[in-house]
Amino acid sequence: RKRFGQNFLRDQGIIDRIVRSVNAQPGDNIVEIGPGQGAITAPLLQACQRLNVIEIDRDLIPILLAQFAKYPEFKIHQHDVLKFDFKQLFADKPLRVIGNLPYNISTPLIFHLLEYTTNICDMHFMLQKEVVQRLAADVGDKHYGRLSIMVQYYCAVEHLFAVPPECFTPQPKVDSAIVRLTPHARIPFVAKDFKLFANLVNTAFGQRRKTLRNTLKLSMAADAIAELPSAVGVDPSLRPENISLQQFVELSNHIYDQTSD
Ligand code: SAM
Repeated sequence: RKRFGQNFLRDQGIIDRIVRSVNAQPGDNIVEIGPGQGAITAPLLQACQRLNVIEIDRDLIPILLAQFAKYPEFKIHQHDVLKFDFKQLFADKPLRVIGNLPYNISTPLIFHLLEYTTNICDMHFMLQKEVVQRLAADVGDKHYGRLSIMVQYYCAVEHLFAVPPECFTPQPKVDSAIVRLTPHARIPFVAKDFKLFANLVNTAFGQRRKTLRNTLKLSMAADAIAELPSAVGVDPSLRPENISLQQFVELSNHIYDQTSD
């Protein structure tokens, strides 16, 4: 079904490579998002004997049950993953998340999952290549933006390998790639007011061509902006793509300190 982004993996070499990257161990607490016809589900279940899957398309449920009902710890949640409460899957072990995602929901889904990162040990996703480039981009890179910063705030990002369209049936019109997101054990740069930090990043990248000075002009006095290099080491003449995650956090903490007394 087109609206569910159904491109099923057919290439056994790529399936094996994904499963090797995940390296599932017996007893792991894994959830697979969008199992489809079970291409990755089968080797995952073989490896860990226990699996939750979240699939929106009710027509796929009998296909999955026919193959996997023999595993007593296989559980299907027929649900829209964007509305799924992952807390119900928290168990004896931190959650591992895997998904060959429908590309139209990948960004909202990643933001949804960021709410649960304290209970997640890693996430492996197949995504459109460009989304992986944005997730993994470093400051100064042309793909660097809001998605890079908001995800890297919570997770280390590794681009693992590319997956060409020929590996799927039907073939998607775009290239794909596998990415691993590993939530930081301890967030390296902590925003005192997360909403303020997120709004700052949003506003800055909403007008990527503008300098920080112009972005802040509406909310900060000119002399306060002029003091930013000495106060937080951020040059207000920079464009957002040249401001690091650490600098965005420090800048938002500085604004918080200035406005909260
Ligand atoms: N994992 C399978 C594979 O690799 O062959 C299928 C991948 S296919 C790209 C995406 C899967 O996600 C489909 O099975 C689709 O029905 C399911 N899906 C789409 N939107 C969803 C949603 N909002 N919640 C849960 N599953 C969804």
